[in-house]
Amino acid sequence: MIKADFHVHTTYCDGKHTPEEMVKTAISLGMTSLGFSVHSYTEFDQSYCIKKERMADYIEEINSLKAKYSDKIRILCGIERDLYAEEPEGNFDYTIGSLHYVKKNGVYYTIDESADRLRQAINEAWQGSATAFAKDYYAEVSRMGEVSPDIIGHLDLITKFDEVEPIFDTEDPAYIAAAKGAVDALLPLGVPFEINTGAISRGYRKTPYPAPFLLSYIIEKGGKVILSGDVHAVSGLLCHFEEAEALARSLGADRFETL
Ligand SMILES: [Zn+2]
Ligand SMILES: [Zn+2]
Repeated sequence: MIKADFHVHTTYCDGKHTPEEMVKTAISLGMTSLGFSVHSYTEFDQSYCIKKERMADYIEEINSLKAKYSDKIRILCGIERDLYAEEPEGNFDYTIGSLHYVKKNGVYYTIDESADRLRQAINEAWQGSATAFAKDYYAEVSRMGEVSPDIIGHLDLITKFDEVEPIFDTEDPAYIAAAKGAVDALLPLGVPFEINTGAISRGYRKTPYPAPFLLSYIIEKGGKVILSGDVHAVSGLLCHFEEAEALARSLGADRFETL
């Protein structure tokens, strides 16, 4: 079983626990590596991301934990960089490239805050067409190479609420083509796509991102995959990793990347 995770949030952004609390729990779970991935600063939405002036403290604290616990666990200092975020200042061990908004007519429409907000956005700027929204989302995701990611974050985040309240018709050929188009655009980067269990531990979904049809497609095309918990509390560490690994293996994955 995989016992490493590189997608971990703390009190530096929208996580519930401090970095050291995360490290202690990770050690108690026998984890071999733990990578912190603070949400990069987005000026247009500061509700969930790190404050600009705290970035230096974040890097310093993670690096000091790295040294303090070096005989027990390998710690990395990373960042989850939104495509629309400012270029972050500082040195990071790695970058997760993610998209949490779709920008249209100068407005950043949030994807993962609530089903209501998402629906409102689709009605307001996409004439009520969820497929049109999905096309624009995947076109933006296709640009993720611009942030030089080491990992592609939650590829189909827009489906976060679909199991509770269906918004997207993921069997619509236009939806499928848009989503696969993003995979095709990102494959040449040669970096792993996340199999992300974050929405399972937070009760929104029963299966990880991306949807099985997309995960199969990634595997069939020779894409790499990496397990991630998108952890926001100590209870999220390694949460649902076993099922996610089994699901990926059943779809043909025989190798899981690490950093
Ligand atoms: Zn994210
Ligand atoms: Zn995250």
